[in-house]
Amino acid sequence: MLGNAAVLDPETGSLTEGQAVVVEDGRIVEVGPASLVRAGEATVLDVKGGTVMPGLIDAHVHVYAATADLGALEEWAPSYLTARAAGILRGMLDRGFTTVRDVAGADYGIAAAVSEGLLAGPRVIFGGRALSQTGGHGDSRGPGRALLDQHPCAPALTVVADGVPEVRRAAREQLRRGAHHVKVMLSGGIASPTDRIDSTQYSMEELRAVVEEARAAGRYVTGHAYTAAAVNRGLEAGVGCIEHGNLMDGSSVELFRRTGAFYVPTLATYAALADEGLAHGMPAAQHAKVFEVLDAGLGALELAARAGLPIVYGTDLLGGMHRRQLTELTIRSEVQPAADVLRSATTVAARLLGLQGQVGVVAPGALADLLVVDGNPLERLGLLTDPARNLRLVMAAGRLHRNELA
Ligand SMILES: [Zn+2]
Repeated sequence: MLGNAAVLDPETGSLTEGQAVVVEDGRIVEVGPASLVRAGEATVLDVKGGTVMPGLIDAHVHVYAATADLGALEEWAPSYLTARAAGILRGMLDRGFTTVRDVAGADYGIAAAVSEGLLAGPRVIFGGRALSQTGGHGDSRGPGRALLDQHPCAPALTVVADGVPEVRRAAREQLRRGAHHVKVMLSGGIASPTDRIDSTQYSMEELRAVVEEARAAGRYVTGHAYTAAAVNRGLEAGVGCIEHGNLMDGSSVELFRRTGAFYVPTLATYAALADEGLAHGMPAAQHAKVFEVLDAGLGALELAARAGLPIVYGTDLLGGMHRRQLTELTIRSEVQPAADVLRSATTVAARLLGLQGQVGVVAPGALADLLVVDGNPLERLGLLTDPARNLRLVMAAGRLHRNELA
């Protein structure tokens, strides 16, 4: 049990003092005034008036992106990549992220390794490999390479599939392996060698086929897109979530409104790539593409925030840049109030994941994903960006990862 706590509710943006939180078998069983809560046999941790809040959710990560040179990654041994991913996952949990949504790469193996406690890390909600057309954002071949090695054991974040039958099969393959969503590349991107940022990718027929497969399995499709044209094609095809969207416009906002789709900006990664992408292995030609989307990102967020779209926290960091995972909080607070930013990383993210009431809240029945912070993040969001100093406790599914409440 956590006693003497101020409990933060992201949904209402409020803090209630003098609370106790009782945890049993990985779940929260009771939250209320300390005097009313029955501690029973429980161990009591005195929070000393600190803030108890739900663990954070990052809805755009790649736990296997251990280098910014994604082409080179495909020649690594899977065993080596797993070891590197273990470090990335531990770092995320250290920063207070207790759930992540992996939108290309992670599979049922790494998710199971965390849920079984073999690796320390946030719960991994994964989509398997992202679907890309030939020459699209998920095709890592340079123009001089013809062979496409799609062996399922080779570490790759993506699968190349063209035409309706192939994309159906590729979507079904991801779903067969337990994918929580199917990711498609709707436009060009930065970390790909042959496409332009402003290209649109996949035909409407292919996109509709992927959406149909995901829906049939009770899942949704999320799409990587930068320009308004690419975002809009995805939303028109029935994609339930858009990643990045830096170059979208008012017409996209209208479509978001009409479809109820979620929006996941990933501003942390552009700043990181611009500053240090080259040092982390990103090829120079790809690094140059960062500047086509860097400045527009904040404007897209502002557009979405003003329209009241469901905005979710995402970072999309690669390689050694994962340490900048909390800078997204700072960047977003330039245009959003702290409570909105916190909701994007808790309750709104939970809705996207279909885990509302399970994650992103401190409430009975929820998974015991809890942080103890010195101070009130609703007043000073920046407290969260220095976890080594301000995070006193990290608990994921009832397991204590860190506890400095002596
Ligand atoms: Zn990404």
